[in-house]
Amino acid sequence: MSAEGRLAGVKKRIEEACRRGGRDPAEVTLVAVSKFHDAAAVAELAACGQTVFGESYIQEALPKMEAGPAGLTWHFIGHLQRNKGKLAIGRFALIHTLDNLELARLLQKKTGEQGLAPQAVCLQVNVAGEAQKSGVSPEGLPALAEAVAAMPALSLSGLMVLPPVFDDPDGARPAFARLRELRDGLAARLGLALPVLSMGMSGDLEAAILEGATHVRVGTDLFGPRQR
Ligand SMILES: *Cc1c(COP(=O)(O)O)cnc(C)c1O
Repeated sequence: MSAEGRLAGVKKRIEEACRRGGRDPAEVTLVAVSKFHDAAAVAELAACGQTVFGESYIQEALPKMEAGPAGLTWHFIGHLQRNKGKLAIGRFALIHTLDNLELARLLQKKTGEQGLAPQAVCLQVNVAGEAQKSGVSPEGLPALAEAVAAMPALSLSGLMVLPPVFDDPDGARPAFARLRELRDGLAARLGLALPVLSMGMSGDLEAAILEGATHVRVGTDLFGPRQR
């Protein structure tokens, strides 16, 4: 299938899920996850009208961002190691994956030093308590959120989850619902809007949208299978 056909198919799924959930499709941002796909693939999808792209690895992302067409918006969705943190500063419209205080302090310091506009961040939550996975625990979330909310060079925008992969497209739905509940609780506690819920990928974007996703991160169904 052509890039155009794949993009139209994903948009149609988003619209259909919004219709089912009584939501406006304009509330859902499609983040095209281009990791392991080259700059030509990005340019091809951009030519079909896609403007928001997501990358998981800093070293892979930066050259692709340089090579890509101008005018695109880039999000960082991978695990951000502290030694790479300074490379991410000022380059991404949204970092989805902040999950520890040390990294938050580093981003705060570097963004402040460079006099840049506040860096928008989401906190990644390890909702299911999976040992191998990044993300702050639901128990640790309030303290981290409070600390980040107090950092003037960071703009706390919402929460992100990367739940376990299920064969059943509705398998992750409880994790999505949990993320929304955590967001609602935090927003009330901190008196902040926290509008962003980054959740849902190729296999489960419908369930995520039904639970309130504002950003779905779709790779495979837009670009085809990854080569690595
Ligand atoms: C790779 C990746 C995606 C995209 O997954 P697909 O199943 O290919 O749509 C979404 N989110 C994160 C955090 C990823 O690393």
